Amino acid sequence: MADSAPPVTIALSKGRIYDDTLPLLAEAGLRPAIDPERSRRLIIPTNRPEVQLLLVRATDVPTYVQFGGADLGVSGKDVLDEHGGEGLYQPVDLGIARCRMVVAARADFDYPAAVAQRRRLRAATKFERTAREHFARKGLHVDLIKLYGSMELAPLTGLADVIVDLVDTGNTLKANNLVAVEDIAPVSARLVVNPASLRTRGATLRPLIDALGNAAAARRAS
Ligand code: AMP
Repeated sequence: MADSAPPVTIALSKGRIYDDTLPLLAEAGLRPAIDPERSRRLIIPTNRPEVQLLLVRATDVPTYVQFGGADLGVSGKDVLDEHGGEGLYQPVDLGIARCRMVVAARADFDYPAAVAQRRRLRAATKFERTAREHFARKGLHVDLIKLYGSMELAPLTGLADVIVDLVDTGNTLKANNLVAVEDIAPVSARLVVNPASLRTRGATLRPLIDALGNAAAARRAS
């Protein structure tokens, strides 16, 4: 590779994705040169000068990779489904940041009865596409209310009958007197790749993709 070639860039979001990806990167021989928690830098160099990390909002990871602002990214399936996945190659399920996408309601709300009576429901969510497709598959008419956070509040305040949200331990639902009434899909984080980058920078990218895939497989097998 010529010295002037820009580094290969991996887009990650801070928090669970970053924390869970770090051990996989380490197995692929990559270590961040600085701790993002102690810095305001958004571009993080690694021990390998030809690879750098880019810290972006979780919902922006697919967009950066789609338009070549990053060559690789790690993105939750929830985020990818909302984005649509256009222009992205998704070679590896990393099996990290696992959780479930569910429909949840107040403990005293009879969801099965509402479904059986084909009642028109109000559903609050930030996962509009996922929710629309889920309820359409069930043949239910649903008024979707877009929220950007704290969806648990919607059924408690009468804003909505149900929410579509991610659940991990279930503690947040429980603390707010909500219950999961329907599973929509398991969620985990995927490696996403810009196809043009793969063509032009395959010599650097392919070994990295393989190493991350192997690290994820080994982790799953252990
Ligand atoms: P929990 O209380 O462990 O069920 O976690 C539920 C809260 O964490 C909800 O606000 C979810 O939106 C969020 N959450 C859980 N798992 C994930 C994940 N893998 N990615 C993003 N957010 C998550």
